[in-house]
Amino acid sequence: MKNENTESLFPELLGTEPKKNIKVVKSISSEIVKPMAFSFSKLSLYEECSLKYKFKYIDKLPEEPKFYFALGHSVHNAMEFMYAVKSPPFPELRDVLKEFKREWKTKNWMQKGYKDSAHEEKDYSKAVEMLKAYYEKHHKTFIVPFLLEYSADVEADGLRVRIIADKINYLGNGEIEIVDYKTGKNISRSADQVHLYQKICELDPRLKDKIHQIYGDRVQSVKVRNMEYYYIPGLKEIKFERAPDKDIEKLWDRVLKAADGVRAAEFEPNPGELQCKFCDFKANCPIFTNNKSIITDEKEPINYDKDEEYSKLAALVDEYGKMFNRVNSFNKELENIKTEILKVFKKKKISSYSGKNYGLNTKKTEKWTFEDREAIINILKTQGLYDRVLAPVLKNIVDVLNDESLPESVRKKIKEQGDKKEIFNFEVNNISGR
Ligand code: SF4
Repeated sequence: MKNENTESLFPELLGTEPKKNIKVVKSISSEIVKPMAFSFSKLSLYEECSLKYKFKYIDKLPEEPKFYFALGHSVHNAMEFMYAVKSPPFPELRDVLKEFKREWKTKNWMQKGYKDSAHEEKDYSKAVEMLKAYYEKHHKTFIVPFLLEYSADVEADGLRVRIIADKINYLGNGEIEIVDYKTGKNISRSADQVHLYQKICELDPRLKDKIHQIYGDRVQSVKVRNMEYYYIPGLKEIKFERAPDKDIEKLWDRVLKAADGVRAAEFEPNPGELQCKFCDFKANCPIFTNNKSIITDEKEPINYDKDEEYSKLAALVDEYGKMFNRVNSFNKELENIKTEILKVFKKKKISSYSGKNYGLNTKKTEKWTFEDREAIINILKTQGLYDRVLAPVLKNIVDVLNDESLPESVRKKIKEQGDKKEIFNFEVNNISGR
């Protein structure tokens, strides 16, 4: 019988017949195709808009941080802390809140994607109330979970599917229950996510070993008995029975179809109100760039596609927007590093330090804001200090100049004293104006 692995791959180098004493071992390394990494988030994004998938996972375009992810992350971390014991007692509520605060403070409001610190503080209080309410309702019936934040990578059908289950409880006889916490308001989700967890957990060979290690049970297989989404804001559990095989098969077909689409580079825009509203890639998306309206003073309609200058302009605008995004993300990184450095400066009580190539000095300046302007003016007036703050500032002079009631002769005199330059600043946006 012909042995494939000992057949000459290069007969032309060896003569027409392979020489009997020379064996060329066929390398199979080039034939091994690495399984494609996949997950529920990838499936739902591909199905939502495959072009968005491409921008995120293939092109790896930068995205704005999302405040709702920051809140979800910190609450999940606190929930993990709440249950992370080998045996009771569980942590006190004050320790859970302390852990929540510690994690919350690892990033500032900008890094978390909040529009200002007031919005961040509001969410902080909201999250604290959520955790308190959850603890109040459930702490007397807490049980030690089998696994927390369990991450599994399972290979099946050419994919390596990753799941991260928030909490898994062991119910005995190889049966488990999967819990996924939700911090959003929408409580009408499909069970797809936990159904995928069901499939992966039942394929995961590590779970049997873990059951044996922790509970001493030797089980032949692991079976998911039920699953639940726990909505923390409303303290509501939505439970799902174990899904029948045909439902799991249907879901798996969708997974394989999406993975095939990625492999075949099928990336089409799928515009829709929700997906586009929260999409950071509008500046790259043909749906938005082709339908854009260009602000112009021209009265006549212009065929933008055929006008070479407009084509160049579109490319320049895109380039500007791209660089603007990069500068923004650099600035955010700089802010992060600055916060870290200042933390150490404060701790060590120093104001300068050097690395191998650069040195840093901190210069402290103070910035005041006075919300109640009237109260300040009142204090200054009663203390006879008001005149000292009336020195004409540039902005006030410009305001006077723009005042329509100003006599033209006076305006002219003021203008003669000044020099006017036109400065153009761009406001960069992601087409939708977000
Ligand atoms: S803007 Fe809409 S259509 Fe374009 S990539 Fe984003 S989600 Fe898809």
